[in-house]
Amino acid sequence: MNLKENLISLKNTFINPTCTLVAVSKTKPNKLLLEAYEAGIRDFGENKVQEMSEKAEQLPKDIRWHMIGHLQRNKVKYLAPFVHLIHSVDSLKLLKEIDKEAKKNERIIQVLLQVYIAKEESKFGLDEVELRTLLHDEALAKLDSVKIIGLMGMATYTDDEDQIRAEFRFLKNLFESLQNEALPSNVELKELSMGMSGDYLLAQEEGSTMVRVGSAIFGERNYQ
Ligand SMILES: *Cc1c(COP(=O)(O)O)cnc(C)c1O
Repeated sequence: MNLKENLISLKNTFINPTCTLVAVSKTKPNKLLLEAYEAGIRDFGENKVQEMSEKAEQLPKDIRWHMIGHLQRNKVKYLAPFVHLIHSVDSLKLLKEIDKEAKKNERIIQVLLQVYIAKEESKFGLDEVELRTLLHDEALAKLDSVKIIGLMGMATYTDDEDQIRAEFRFLKNLFESLQNEALPSNVELKELSMGMSGDYLLAQEEGSTMVRVGSAIFGERNYQ
C-alpha cells in the first residue's frame, strides 16, 4: 500500500470522523510529508524543535505544525513565529515563556496541558493536583498571549486494552469536570489530544478529539 491508500484506510476506521488527525512525521523526510500533504493532510506533528523549524521552512505554508514532544524553554523562540498548537506544556514557567515569545510575534499561541496518565515512569506531564493548581494559579490569568484549549495524554505502552481504556477515561473525566469549573478567560477546554497508532480507536471511543498518528501512516521509525 502506498501512503495515500494508507491514509484513506486509516481515516475509514475512525469512529469519530470529526476527530483531527495529526500526522506525526518525526524522523521522516520531507518527501513523505509532501505525499501526505498531497493526500490532504494539513496537520503535522513533530517532537524536535530544530527538525520542525527546518521542515516548516521548506514545506507549504498552510501546514499547521503541532509540537508534540517535550519543549525546553530556551527553544520556544524558534517555534513562536509559526507553531499552530503545542501539545506538551507542563509548567507555568514554560507557559510564561510561550506568552513572552507570542507577544514578540504579535500572536496568541494555542497550547494543551500534558497530563500524566500512564502507569509507567515518565518525567513529563502534570498529575491531577498539579493540573488544578496550575489552572487556578493567579499568574496564569495574566498570560493573555497564550490560550489553553485542552489536554493531552499518553497511555501506558501495553497490550492491556482495559488498562489503556481506563487511562483515557480518566483523562476524559478530568477534562469534563474542568469544563464545568470557573477558569481564567485564556482557558477554553475543547480539545482532547489522546491516541497514537496503537490506540487511536480506543482513544476515539473514550472521547478523543485529536489523535497523533505516526507509524500507521509513515511506517515504522528506526529511532524516536
Ligand atoms: C511519536 C509520537 C506519537 C506517534 O506515535 P506512533 O506510535 O508512531 O503513532 C504520538 N504522540 C507523541 C507524543 C509521540 O512522541
